[in-house]
Amino acid sequence: MNKYDSDIIKTLLLDEDFEDVSTPEEANFVLINTCSVREHAEKRAIGRLNSLKGLKNKKPEVIIGVLGCMAKELPDLINHPVVDFLAPPDSYRNLVKWIKAKKNGLIPEYKNEQYSNIFISPNNISSYLSITRGCNYFCSYCIVPYSRGYLRSRPPNEIIKEAENLVKNGVREITLLGQNINAYYYKGVDFPGILKKVAGIKEIERLNFLTSHPKDIPLSLFDVMAEHKNVTNYLHLPLQSASNRILMRMRRGYTIQDYMSLVNKGRKILPDLTLTTDILIGFPGEKDEDFKETIMAVKKIRFDQSYMFAYSERKSTLSALFNDNLEERIKNNRLRYLIEVQNEITEEKAHALKGKELEVLVVDKAKKGGKIGKSKNGKIIIVNGVAKIGSSYIVKINRINGWVPIGEIKKEV
Ligand code: SF4
Repeated sequence: MNKYDSDIIKTLLLDEDFEDVSTPEEANFVLINTCSVREHAEKRAIGRLNSLKGLKNKKPEVIIGVLGCMAKELPDLINHPVVDFLAPPDSYRNLVKWIKAKKNGLIPEYKNEQYSNIFISPNNISSYLSITRGCNYFCSYCIVPYSRGYLRSRPPNEIIKEAENLVKNGVREITLLGQNINAYYYKGVDFPGILKKVAGIKEIERLNFLTSHPKDIPLSLFDVMAEHKNVTNYLHLPLQSASNRILMRMRRGYTIQDYMSLVNKGRKILPDLTLTTDILIGFPGEKDEDFKETIMAVKKIRFDQSYMFAYSERKSTLSALFNDNLEERIKNNRLRYLIEVQNEITEEKAHALKGKELEVLVVDKAKKGGKIGKSKNGKIIIVNGVAKIGSSYIVKINRINGWVPIGEIKKEV
Protein backbone atom coordinates (compact mmCIF):
# COMPACT_ATOMS: atom_id res chain seq x y z
CA MET A 1 0.00 0.00 0.00
CA ASN A 2 2.85 2.38 0.80
CA LYS A 3 4.50 1.63 -2.52
CA TYR A 4 1.27 2.53 -4.27
CA ASP A 5 0.90 5.68 -2.15
CA SER A 6 4.48 6.65 -3.06
CA ASP A 7 3.47 6.38 -6.74
CA ILE A 8 0.46 8.65 -6.06
CA ILE A 9 2.75 11.20 -4.38
CA LYS A 10 5.23 10.98 -7.25
CA THR A 11 2.42 11.51 -9.79
CA LEU A 12 1.17 14.57 -7.89
CA LEU A 13 4.67 16.07 -7.76
CA LEU A 14 5.69 15.29 -11.35
CA ASP A 15 2.43 16.89 -12.52
CA GLU A 16 3.66 20.11 -10.89
CA ASP A 17 7.00 19.92 -12.71
CA PHE A 18 9.03 18.67 -9.77
CA GLU A 19 11.83 16.29 -10.72
CA ASP A 20 12.91 13.00 -9.27
CA VAL A 21 16.59 12.80 -8.20
CA SER A 22 18.57 9.79 -7.12
CA THR A 23 20.24 10.89 -3.88
CA PRO A 24 19.17 13.09 -0.91
CA GLU A 25 22.25 15.28 -1.56
CA GLU A 26 20.83 16.37 -4.95
CA ALA A 27 17.36 17.12 -3.55
CA ASN A 28 15.64 20.33 -2.45
CA PHE A 29 13.23 18.26 -0.43
CA VAL A 30 13.23 14.71 0.88
CA LEU A 31 10.07 12.72 1.65
CA ILE A 32 10.14 9.56 3.75
CA ASN A 33 7.04 7.38 3.44
CA THR A 34 6.68 5.38 6.64
CA CYS A 35 4.87 2.36 8.07
CA SER A 36 3.66 1.87 11.64
CA VAL A 37 2.50 -1.70 11.42
CA ARG A 38 5.42 -3.03 13.46
CA GLU A 39 7.94 -1.47 15.80
CA HIS A 40 10.76 -2.63 13.55
CA ALA A 41 9.42 -0.57 10.61
CA GLU A 42 9.24 2.53 12.80
CA LYS A 43 12.80 2.04 14.06
CA ARG A 44 14.08 1.80 10.50
CA ALA A 45 12.34 5.03 9.51
CA ILE A 46 13.77 6.83 12.54
CA GLY A 47 17.21 5.46 11.62
CA ARG A 48 16.71 6.92 8.14
CA LEU A 49 15.76 10.31 9.59
CA ASN A 50 18.83 10.27 11.85
CA SER A 51 21.00 9.55 8.84
CA LEU A 52 19.79 12.84 7.30
CA LYS A 53 21.15 14.96 10.18
CA GLY A 54 24.45 15.59 8.33
CA LEU A 55 22.61 16.72 5.21
CA LYS A 56 20.32 19.06 7.18
CA ASN A 57 23.34 20.59 8.97
CA LYS A 58 25.13 21.18 5.69
CA LYS A 59 22.03 22.36 3.78
CA PRO A 60 19.46 23.67 6.30
CA GLU A 61 17.25 24.83 3.39
CA VAL A 62 16.49 21.20 2.44
CA ILE A 63 12.89 20.41 3.41
CA ILE A 64 12.32 17.02 5.02
CA GLY A 65 8.84 15.53 5.37
CA VAL A 66 7.63 12.37 7.09
CA LEU A 67 4.73 10.77 5.22
CA GLY A 68 2.43 7.84 5.96
CA CYS A 69 1.26 6.19 9.13
CA MET A 70 4.07 7.41 11.40
CA ALA A 71 3.10 10.98 10.51
CA LYS A 72 -0.32 10.23 11.94
CA GLU A 73 0.63 8.02 14.87
CA LEU A 74 3.72 9.83 16.14
CA PRO A 75 2.99 13.60 16.09
CA ASP A 76 6.04 14.22 18.31
CA LEU A 77 8.19 13.44 15.28
CA ILE A 78 7.74 17.09 14.36
CA ASN A 79 10.32 17.77 17.10
CA HIS A 80 12.92 15.56 15.41
CA PRO A 81 15.84 17.85 14.42
CA VAL A 82 15.54 17.16 10.68
CA VAL A 83 11.74 17.06 10.27
CA ASP A 84 9.90 20.06 8.78
CA PHE A 85 6.46 18.59 8.26
CA LEU A 86 4.29 15.51 8.77
CA ALA A 87 1.94 14.27 6.04
CA PRO A 88 -0.48 11.53 7.13
CA PRO A 89 -1.96 9.09 4.53
CA ASP A 90 -4.98 11.15 3.46
CA SER A 91 -3.16 14.49 3.19
CA TYR A 92 -1.12 14.06 0.01
CA ARG A 93 -3.23 16.36 -2.16
CA ASN A 94 -2.02 19.21 0.07
CA LEU A 95 1.62 18.21 -0.24
CA VAL A 96 2.57 20.30 -3.27
CA LYS A 97 1.02 23.43 -1.75
CA TRP A 98 2.88 22.76 1.50
CA ILE A 99 6.26 22.25 -0.13
CA LYS A 100 5.89 25.32 -2.34
CA ALA A 101 4.94 27.47 0.67
CA LYS A 102 7.77 25.90 2.75
CA LYS A 103 5.31 25.42 5.61
CA ASN A 104 6.09 23.44 8.75
CA GLY A 105 3.85 21.26 10.93
CA LEU A 106 1.09 18.73 10.32
CA ILE A 107 -0.59 18.72 6.88
CA PRO A 108 -4.38 18.40 7.25
CA GLU A 109 -6.04 15.27 5.85
CA TYR A 110 -9.08 15.09 3.57
CA LYS A 111 -12.14 13.20 4.74
CA ASN A 112 -13.18 10.28 2.49
CA GLU A 113 -9.96 10.57 0.48
CA GLN A 114 -9.60 7.84 -2.14
CA TYR A 115 -7.22 9.53 -4.62
CA SER A 116 -9.78 8.35 -7.12
CA ASN A 117 -8.98 10.60 -10.04
CA ILE A 118 -5.20 10.25 -9.78
CA PHE A 119 -3.80 7.77 -12.27
CA ILE A 120 -0.25 6.75 -11.53
CA SER A 121 2.33 6.58 -14.32
CA PRO A 122 3.75 3.07 -14.32
CA ASN A 123 7.46 2.54 -14.91
CA ASN A 124 7.26 -1.23 -15.07
CA ILE A 125 5.06 -3.91 -16.61
CA SER A 126 3.70 -4.67 -13.11
CA SER A 127 1.64 -2.17 -11.15
CA TYR A 128 -0.47 -1.90 -8.03
CA LEU A 129 -3.99 -0.48 -8.12
CA SER A 130 -5.67 0.41 -4.84
CA ILE A 131 -9.41 -0.33 -4.73
CA THR A 132 -10.06 0.34 -1.04
CA ARG A 133 -8.44 2.44 1.68
CA GLY A 134 -8.64 1.85 5.43
CA CYS A 135 -10.29 -0.96 7.37
CA ASN A 136 -13.38 -1.31 9.55
CA TYR A 137 -12.09 -4.23 11.58
CA PHE A 138 -10.28 -3.60 14.77
CA CYS A 139 -8.09 -6.66 15.19
CA SER A 140 -6.80 -6.14 18.70
CA TYR A 141 -3.12 -5.85 17.69
CA CYS A 142 -3.52 -3.71 14.56
CA ILE A 143 -2.88 0.00 14.15
CA VAL A 144 -4.21 0.26 10.57
CA PRO A 145 -7.80 1.40 11.34
CA TYR A 146 -6.32 4.18 13.52
CA SER A 147 -3.67 5.31 11.05
CA ARG A 148 -5.52 4.76 7.76
CA GLY A 149 -9.10 5.29 8.85
CA TYR A 150 -12.33 3.49 8.03
CA LEU A 151 -12.97 1.42 4.89
CA ARG A 152 -13.64 3.35 1.69
CA SER A 153 -14.32 1.52 -1.58
CA ARG A 154 -13.43 3.19 -4.83
CA PRO A 155 -16.16 3.42 -7.51
CA PRO A 156 -15.88 0.61 -10.12
CA ASN A 157 -15.70 3.03 -13.07
CA GLU A 158 -12.63 4.74 -11.51
CA ILE A 159 -10.96 1.39 -10.97
CA ILE A 160 -11.62 0.30 -14.56
CA LYS A 161 -10.38 3.68 -15.87
CA GLU A 162 -7.15 3.35 -13.92
CA ALA A 163 -6.66 -0.28 -15.00
CA GLU A 164 -7.20 0.71 -18.66
CA ASN A 165 -4.78 3.58 -18.26
CA LEU A 166 -2.14 1.23 -16.81
CA VAL A 167 -2.60 -1.22 -19.67
CA LYS A 168 -2.35 1.63 -22.22
CA ASN A 169 1.00 2.48 -20.64
CA GLY A 170 2.40 -1.02 -21.06
CA VAL A 171 1.36 -2.72 -17.81
CA ARG A 172 0.68 -6.46 -18.14
CA GLU A 173 0.35 -7.43 -14.49
CA ILE A 174 -1.93 -5.62 -12.02
CA THR A 175 -2.24 -6.26 -8.29
CA LEU A 176 -5.45 -4.92 -6.78
CA LEU A 177 -4.83 -3.61 -3.28
CA GLY A 178 -6.85 -3.18 -0.13
CA GLN A 179 -6.13 -3.64 3.56
CA ASN A 180 -9.05 -6.07 3.62
CA ILE A 181 -9.75 -6.37 -0.07
CA ASN A 182 -12.68 -8.77 0.26
CA ALA A 183 -14.63 -6.09 2.10
CA TYR A 184 -14.81 -4.08 -1.14
CA TYR A 185 -18.39 -2.97 -1.77
CA TYR A 186 -19.68 -0.15 -3.94
CA LYS A 187 -23.38 0.22 -4.83
CA GLY A 188 -24.10 -3.47 -5.31
CA VAL A 189 -20.63 -4.43 -6.61
CA ASP A 190 -18.72 -6.69 -4.22
CA PHE A 191 -15.15 -7.96 -4.47
CA PRO A 192 -15.80 -10.94 -6.79
CA GLY A 193 -17.85 -8.48 -8.90
CA ILE A 194 -15.05 -5.92 -9.29
CA LEU A 195 -12.46 -8.68 -9.83
CA LYS A 196 -14.59 -10.01 -12.68
CA LYS A 197 -14.90 -6.55 -14.22
CA VAL A 198 -11.13 -5.90 -14.12
CA ALA A 199 -10.37 -9.44 -15.36
CA GLY A 200 -12.54 -8.58 -18.38
CA ILE A 201 -9.78 -6.22 -19.61
CA LYS A 202 -8.13 -8.72 -21.90
CA GLU A 203 -4.77 -6.93 -22.15
CA ILE A 204 -4.16 -7.73 -18.46
CA GLU A 205 -2.15 -10.91 -18.50
CA ARG A 206 -1.93 -11.40 -14.74
CA LEU A 207 -4.36 -10.07 -12.18
CA ASN A 208 -3.55 -10.50 -8.47
CA PHE A 209 -5.13 -9.14 -5.30
CA LEU A 210 -3.99 -8.44 -1.75
CA THR A 211 -4.86 -8.87 1.17
CA SER A 212 -7.75 -11.22 1.91
CA HIS A 213 -9.42 -11.64 5.27
CA PRO A 214 -10.54 -15.26 5.98
CA LYS A 215 -13.79 -13.93 7.47
CA ASP A 216 -14.88 -12.17 4.27
CA ILE A 217 -14.07 -14.57 1.43
CA PRO A 218 -17.21 -15.72 -0.40
CA LEU A 219 -16.89 -19.06 -2.21
CA SER A 220 -17.87 -17.27 -5.44
CA LEU A 221 -14.39 -15.69 -5.33
CA PHE A 222 -12.79 -19.05 -6.16
CA ASP A 223 -15.26 -19.49 -9.04
CA VAL A 224 -14.30 -16.07 -10.47
CA MET A 225 -10.62 -17.04 -10.14
CA ALA A 226 -11.25 -20.33 -11.93
CA GLU A 227 -13.34 -18.73 -14.69
CA HIS A 228 -10.82 -16.04 -15.62
CA LYS A 229 -7.53 -17.26 -17.02
CA ASN A 230 -5.80 -13.96 -16.30
CA VAL A 231 -6.57 -14.07 -12.55
CA THR A 232 -3.55 -15.60 -10.83
CA ASN A 233 -4.28 -18.70 -8.76
CA TYR A 234 -2.64 -17.11 -5.77
CA LEU A 235 -4.18 -16.29 -2.42
CA HIS A 236 -2.53 -14.49 0.47
CA LEU A 237 -4.68 -15.43 3.45
CA PRO A 238 -3.38 -14.29 6.84
CA LEU A 239 -3.83 -16.98 9.49
CA GLN A 240 -2.09 -15.12 12.37
CA SER A 241 -2.62 -18.00 14.83
CA ALA A 242 -4.19 -21.45 14.79
CA SER A 243 -5.30 -21.32 18.42
CA ASN A 244 -8.97 -20.42 18.68
CA ARG A 245 -8.31 -18.87 22.08
CA ILE A 246 -5.67 -16.54 20.62
CA LEU A 247 -7.72 -15.84 17.48
CA MET A 248 -10.52 -14.69 19.75
CA ARG A 249 -8.19 -12.41 21.72
CA MET A 250 -6.91 -11.08 18.41
CA ARG A 251 -10.55 -10.37 17.44
CA ARG A 252 -10.06 -12.02 14.07
CA GLY A 253 -13.60 -13.30 13.71
CA TYR A 254 -12.88 -16.87 12.55
CA THR A 255 -11.75 -20.17 14.00
CA ILE A 256 -9.02 -22.46 12.74
CA GLN A 257 -11.83 -24.79 11.58
CA ASP A 258 -13.33 -21.98 9.45
CA TYR A 259 -9.89 -21.26 8.04
CA MET A 260 -9.17 -24.90 7.16
CA SER A 261 -12.57 -25.31 5.55
CA LEU A 262 -11.96 -22.24 3.36
CA VAL A 263 -8.53 -23.52 2.31
CA ASN A 264 -9.95 -26.96 1.47
CA LYS A 265 -12.74 -25.45 -0.63
CA GLY A 266 -10.31 -23.13 -2.41
CA ARG A 267 -7.91 -25.98 -3.17
CA LYS A 268 -10.76 -28.12 -4.47
CA ILE A 269 -11.81 -25.46 -6.99
CA LEU A 270 -8.21 -24.39 -7.77
CA PRO A 271 -5.95 -27.43 -7.30
CA ASP A 272 -2.77 -25.50 -8.17
CA LEU A 273 -3.58 -22.60 -5.79
CA THR A 274 -0.48 -20.97 -4.31
CA LEU A 275 -1.28 -20.14 -0.70
CA THR A 276 0.74 -17.76 1.47
CA THR A 277 0.00 -16.39 4.90
CA ASP A 278 0.97 -14.06 7.75
CA ILE A 279 1.61 -15.48 11.21
CA LEU A 280 1.97 -13.43 14.37
CA ILE A 281 3.89 -15.29 17.05
CA GLY A 282 4.04 -14.44 20.75
CA PHE A 283 0.72 -12.62 21.06
CA PRO A 284 0.03 -11.70 24.73
CA GLY A 285 -1.07 -14.78 26.63
CA GLU A 286 0.11 -17.25 23.95
CA LYS A 287 0.89 -20.50 25.77
CA ASP A 288 3.00 -23.43 24.61
CA GLU A 289 -0.20 -25.29 23.61
CA ASP A 290 -1.36 -22.35 21.47
CA PHE A 291 2.00 -22.20 19.74
CA LYS A 292 1.94 -25.97 19.13
CA GLU A 293 -1.48 -25.63 17.48
CA THR A 294 -0.04 -23.04 15.10
CA ILE A 295 2.90 -25.31 14.25
CA MET A 296 0.52 -28.23 13.65
CA ALA A 297 -1.65 -26.12 11.35
CA VAL A 298 1.39 -24.91 9.39
CA LYS A 299 2.47 -28.52 8.88
CA LYS A 300 -1.02 -29.56 7.85
CA ILE A 301 -1.87 -26.66 5.53
CA ARG A 302 1.63 -26.52 4.00
CA PHE A 303 1.70 -22.89 2.94
CA ASP A 304 3.88 -22.09 -0.04
CA GLN A 305 5.36 -19.28 2.01
CA SER A 306 4.66 -17.43 5.25
CA TYR A 307 5.46 -13.93 6.46
CA MET A 308 6.24 -14.57 10.11
CA PHE A 309 6.62 -11.95 12.82
CA ALA A 310 6.98 -11.69 16.56
CA TYR A 311 4.27 -9.58 18.25
CA SER A 312 5.21 -5.98 18.98
CA GLU A 313 2.93 -3.73 20.96
CA ARG A 314 1.29 -0.89 19.01
CA LYS A 315 0.17 2.16 20.94
CA SER A 316 -3.62 2.80 20.98
CA THR A 317 -4.54 -0.79 20.07
CA LEU A 318 -6.59 -3.01 22.38
CA SER A 319 -3.82 -5.58 22.88
CA ALA A 320 -1.52 -2.82 24.21
CA LEU A 321 -3.76 -2.96 27.30
CA PHE A 322 -3.23 -6.71 27.82
CA ASN A 323 -0.91 -7.35 30.71
CA ASP A 324 0.28 -10.84 29.84
CA ASN A 325 3.00 -9.92 27.36
CA LEU A 326 5.56 -12.63 26.67
CA GLU A 327 9.28 -12.27 27.25
CA GLU A 328 11.23 -11.34 24.11
CA ARG A 329 13.31 -14.50 24.54
CA ILE A 330 10.21 -16.74 24.32
CA LYS A 331 8.80 -14.86 21.34
CA ASN A 332 12.10 -15.05 19.48
CA ASN A 333 12.60 -18.77 20.20
CA ARG A 334 9.09 -19.55 18.95
CA LEU A 335 9.56 -17.41 15.86
CA ARG A 336 12.87 -19.10 15.06
CA TYR A 337 11.28 -22.54 15.31
CA LEU A 338 8.29 -21.55 13.18
CA ILE A 339 10.61 -20.14 10.49
CA GLU A 340 12.54 -23.45 10.44
CA VAL A 341 9.33 -25.44 9.98
CA GLN A 342 8.01 -23.17 7.23
CA ASN A 343 11.36 -22.96 5.41
CA GLU A 344 11.49 -26.73 5.15
CA ILE A 345 8.01 -26.79 3.60
CA THR A 346 8.84 -23.93 1.22
CA GLU A 347 11.97 -25.75 0.09
CA GLU A 348 10.12 -29.06 -0.42
CA LYS A 349 7.46 -27.28 -2.46
CA ALA A 350 10.11 -25.58 -4.61
CA HIS A 351 11.88 -28.92 -5.25
CA ALA A 352 8.56 -30.45 -6.33
CA LEU A 353 8.62 -28.04 -9.31
CA LYS A 354 11.87 -29.51 -10.65
CA GLY A 355 11.37 -30.90 -14.18
CA LYS A 356 7.99 -29.16 -14.60
CA GLU A 357 7.15 -26.86 -17.51
CA LEU A 358 5.30 -23.67 -16.53
CA GLU A 359 3.93 -20.70 -18.40
CA VAL A 360 5.87 -17.73 -17.09
CA LEU A 361 5.39 -13.98 -17.65
CA VAL A 362 8.75 -12.18 -17.49
CA VAL A 363 8.32 -9.11 -15.29
CA ASP A 364 11.78 -7.73 -14.49
CA LYS A 365 15.55 -8.20 -14.49
CA ALA A 366 16.93 -10.41 -11.69
CA LYS A 367 19.68 -8.92 -9.53
CA LYS A 368 22.06 -11.83 -9.99
CA GLY A 369 21.48 -12.42 -13.72
CA GLY A 370 18.56 -13.78 -15.71
CA LYS A 371 15.04 -12.40 -15.48
CA ILE A 372 12.28 -12.58 -12.88
CA GLY A 373 9.20 -14.38 -14.09
CA LYS A 374 5.84 -15.24 -12.57
CA SER A 375 3.91 -18.43 -13.16
CA LYS A 376 0.15 -18.51 -13.58
CA ASN A 377 -0.17 -19.37 -9.92
CA GLY A 378 2.06 -16.56 -8.76
CA LYS A 379 5.34 -18.44 -8.21
CA ILE A 380 8.49 -16.41 -8.72
CA ILE A 381 10.78 -18.14 -11.23
CA ILE A 382 14.24 -17.06 -12.38
CA VAL A 383 14.32 -17.39 -16.16
CA ASN A 384 17.61 -17.97 -17.96
CA GLY A 385 18.11 -17.41 -21.67
CA VAL A 386 17.08 -14.52 -23.90
CA ALA A 387 13.78 -13.38 -22.40
CA LYS A 388 11.94 -10.13 -23.09
CA ILE A 389 10.24 -8.32 -20.21
CA GLY A 390 6.50 -8.44 -20.84
CA SER A 391 6.59 -11.68 -22.86
CA SER A 392 5.40 -15.11 -21.76
CA TYR A 393 7.34 -18.33 -22.20
CA ILE A 394 7.07 -22.00 -21.40
CA VAL A 395 9.93 -22.50 -18.95
CA LYS A 396 11.32 -25.82 -17.77
CA ILE A 397 12.47 -25.77 -14.15
CA ASN A 398 15.84 -27.45 -14.02
CA ARG A 399 17.26 -26.45 -10.66
CA ILE A 400 16.39 -24.89 -7.33
CA ASN A 401 18.61 -22.37 -5.58
CA GLY A 402 17.55 -22.28 -1.90
CA TRP A 403 13.86 -22.27 -2.66
CA VAL A 404 13.96 -20.22 -5.85
CA PRO A 405 13.15 -22.29 -8.96
CA ILE A 406 15.42 -21.56 -11.94
CA GLY A 407 14.43 -22.56 -15.46
CA GLU A 408 15.29 -22.47 -19.14
CA ILE A 409 13.01 -21.20 -21.89
CA LYS A 410 11.43 -23.93 -24.02
CA LYS A 411 9.35 -21.64 -26.26
CA GLU A 412 7.57 -18.30 -26.41
CA VAL A 413 3.81 -18.41 -25.83
S1 SF4 B 1 -8.34 -6.77 9.01
FE1 SF4 B 1 -6.16 -6.42 8.66
S2 SF4 B 1 -5.94 -4.18 8.45
FE2 SF4 B 1 -7.96 -4.57 9.35
S3 SF4 B 1 -7.63 -4.41 11.57
FE3 SF4 B 1 -7.41 -6.59 11.03
S4 SF4 B 1 -5.20 -6.88 10.64
FE4 SF4 B 1 -5.62 -4.65 10.61
